[in-house]
Amino acid sequence: MKIICVGRNYEEHARELNNPTPERPMLFMKPSTALLSQGKPFYYPDFSRDIQYEVEVVLRIGGSARHVEERFAPRYYPEVTVGIDFTARDLQNELKHKGHPWEIAKAFDHSAAVGTFRPFPSGQAGQGLVFSLHKNGTCVQEGNTRDMIFSFDRLIAYASRFFRLQSGDLFFTGTPAGVGPVSPGDVLEGYLEGEKCLHCEIR
Ligand code: MG
Repeated sequence: MKIICVGRNYEEHARELNNPTPERPMLFMKPSTALLSQGKPFYYPDFSRDIQYEVEVVLRIGGSARHVEERFAPRYYPEVTVGIDFTARDLQNELKHKGHPWEIAKAFDHSAAVGTFRPFPSGQAGQGLVFSLHKNGTCVQEGNTRDMIFSFDRLIAYASRFFRLQSGDLFFTGTPAGVGPVSPGDVLEGYLEGEKCLHCEIR
C-alpha cells in the first residue's frame, strides 16, 4: 500500500506558504508506515519543534490501473474520508531552502492520519465536498473540493501515468488555507459533509 499526496492544490494555501501556483500537480509519497488509523493518538516526534496539521480529503483507491483517462477516473476512488497530512514544517522549510527532498518532513511514521471511509457520493453530490478540521473544539480549517486547482479526476489521471494505482492505496488531495501547529494535549477532529469521521489526540 502506498500513499500518494499532492502539495499546493488550493490557491489560498499555496499563497499562505509563499509558494507559486503549480502548473502540474506536485506529487509526493508517504510509505505504508506513515499510516495512522482512525482514533489512534499521534505522538509528537523528537525531531521537530513545529509539527503542523493539514486537513485533506483522502480517496481510497479500488482496483489496479495505470494511465487512467480522466473520464474513467471516478471508478477508481469508491471511498472517501478526511485525513491529516502531518508536516514537520521546520524541517520542510530547511529542506525546501536547500532544494533537497523533503521525505523526513512529510513521510515520517504516523504522518498520515485517516478517518473512517465512506462510499464516495455519486454524481453531482461528489463535486463540491465540504470538509473541515476542528482543534480543541474550534474550527481551524475549512475547505470545499470545488476550490481544488486539480480535480480528483485530474489527479488520478496524472498520478497513474507514473505510478500504478493499486487497491487500498490512499490519495491525499491537498489542504486548504489555515494550516497551523499542534501541541501535546490537542484534540483534532475532522469533518466531511458535516459528519465527524476523524478523531486524533496529540500526545
Ligand atoms: Mg498536504
